Amino acid sequence: MTEVSKVASATYLRTATVPLGELTPYPGNAKRGDAATSLESLCSNGQYRSLVVREVEPDQPDQPDQPGRLVVLAGNHTLQAIAAHGPGPCGMTYTVGEEERPCGLCGGKPWEPAARCEIVTCNDATARRINLVDNRSADLGTYDDTALLELIAGLDGDLIGTGYTDTDLGDLLEVLEIVQIEETPYDEDEADEGEEGGGQENGREPQQGQADDVPAAQGPAGAADGPAAAPPAGQPAAPAQGVQPTTQPAQPAQPVLPQPPGQVHLILTYPPEDRDEANRLIAAAREVLPAAGTPEIVLRGLRTLVAVLDSRHAPDGTVTVASLLRAADVELH
Ligand SMILES: [Zn+2]
Repeated sequence: MTEVSKVASATYLRTATVPLGELTPYPGNAKRGDAATSLESLCSNGQYRSLVVREVEPDQPDQPDQPGRLVVLAGNHTLQAIAAHGPGPCGMTYTVGEEERPCGLCGGKPWEPAARCEIVTCNDATARRINLVDNRSADLGTYDDTALLELIAGLDGDLIGTGYTDTDLGDLLEVLEIVQIEETPYDEDEADEGEEGGGQENGREPQQGQADDVPAAQGPAGAADGPAAAPPAGQPAAPAQGVQPTTQPAQPAQPVLPQPPGQVHLILTYPPEDRDEANRLIAAAREVLPAAGTPEIVLRGLRTLVAVLDSRHAPDGTVTVASLLRAADVELH
């Protein structure tokens, strides 16, 4: 108990909007933030989070000549961004849908730089801990990429004020596309049966007849399988031969799928059941359209649906198989 009680916690005093000139950055703050991203966020979102500011007591022995000094423990980059904004109006606007709104910080009006602060009192060691952990905890966090993608995708491409760019979104999609391929149950089965070359990679066109769609380099399935896999010289043989390959996680080095030049991503998010159904339908369509990648199959399916709906307005209202196949761009043999 005595060990714990040595660490004095910070005590909340009040929340106040403080002119920038009265705030002091934390001396020696080690984190180097991205001021441009912070400023963009302030303009589009406003100051949604208070700075955490230590009020140094007038009788503080280390600062006897500056009574009441306010030191920013957390939010030093917000402080910098507000300073970079300067007095209003800044003239910046941002667009929500079709509406153009003024800067969220100055409101497009005369404004003296100030920050909303939660003011606390604490000792020097606690001040230092708060400054360190506030920076550190952000570093230590990780992301659920799927959840992150859904959050970003929910903004319909308007990424202003999120700190994310279109490039970040593209990188995220590439990572998740790999995950999805690994989860697709049709991947390995169809590759083994080798019938139609169910190439999963977009843009790869399996050649008719020679469906060598699993590169040997991916190979734990083929190469390292048999008892022929001898241990490297100088190393003891594995105690149980043949066990090791099957217990290895099925993670062949999947290539990161590049976004083909001139193409863009279209994100569709589904509940797991719907995604599984979509995968089943796409796998079935691939048997008819072996050369088509997933995006092409989905597009052809939509064209066919539109052809059906259009035909209801035709004079005779007849939908023929030939017309549907034509809409789907399926070649008849
Ligand atoms: Zn502004």
